[in-house]
Amino acid sequence: MRRCHPVSSDDLPRSKSGRIPQWVVDEARGRESAPPPWRGDTWDTSVEADRARTRRRRPASPSTSVLTAVLSVLVIAGSAVVWWSRLPDQSWDGAVDALFSRDVLRYDTASGGGVASLAHLPEPGFEEEDAPLGTPAPLAWDGSAYAFERTQELPDGTQVPVAWSPCRPVHVSLNLNEAPADLVDQMRVVLSELEAVTGLVLVVDGTTDEDARVGRSPVQPERYGDRWAPLLVQFSDESRVPELEGDVAGIGGPQVVDRGDGLLVAVSGAVWIDTTMLERDPVDGVPAYVPVLRHELAHALGLGHVQDASQLMNPKASPDVLTYQAGDRYGLSMLGRGVCAPDV
Ligand SMILES: [Zn+2]
Repeated sequence: MRRCHPVSSDDLPRSKSGRIPQWVVDEARGRESAPPPWRGDTWDTSVEADRARTRRRRPASPSTSVLTAVLSVLVIAGSAVVWWSRLPDQSWDGAVDALFSRDVLRYDTASGGGVASLAHLPEPGFEEEDAPLGTPAPLAWDGSAYAFERTQELPDGTQVPVAWSPCRPVHVSLNLNEAPADLVDQMRVVLSELEAVTGLVLVVDGTTDEDARVGRSPVQPERYGDRWAPLLVQFSDESRVPELEGDVAGIGGPQVVDRGDGLLVAVSGAVWIDTTMLERDPVDGVPAYVPVLRHELAHALGLGHVQDASQLMNPKASPDVLTYQAGDRYGLSMLGRGVCAPDV
């Protein structure tokens, strides 16, 4: 990594809370720093290593794990992308903050209040293997910006992104009502891109008639069986999903749960694309909704917004940025290095 100009801390990737890991600062300044294990390919996410870490933290107790999971907080971190027209007078940071504060809902099962409560938890470990199913793309950070929806601290102090378990498939379901005829083909393309960079196995289960709102339950046994509800992708509009009002082209985010040991893992999620995207002209032959789909699916896997307009994860869409860029890809590759989650 080489930089030819002084480094401002504003240039550096950081967590949503604003923290910049020391290694990031060191690397940006051209200094060698010992990389934390999650940056490389040596991070052992196997169940064995995972359980060894768990044993160091607390006595293993399945009943405790289940209880903690029941009491855990689920979050859908809905994030929005604003299409490239309009919003001329609004300060950018203000717009982003407003979108975050508006789109985050919490399910507080501990208090019995909130939008939804989980009366039933799926059988833990559905399809969970002993090791990651795939291999993320090699990490080579070129200084491009990336960010995560949420980060968390491992017992050894390492900051890691909240991600899906790489040891089980990520199931995806499509609601084709109001969707364009080429959605299935476009999804195939985008999911292939995401699989290649994250190493996650992304499986399209098929279609569903679930017409979801922000705050959908991540557990729907009558519809999806005794497992976490799949990541839902659908077109909708502001009459049903008010978060799509105005210039918002889409929203997406993961639903995360406490593994039982304080570490969060994504178990479900949703992506909504505004039907008004279908009225827009293609950009360079690509349907206008496709870059929105890429952006929102990246949110659903755990990527957050960056201020850098050259990245797809900038909250303001641009006709010049239609695909995942270097920072986006780096962040996605790290999201493929999450911890396994046999207890959820
Ligand atoms: Zn966004």
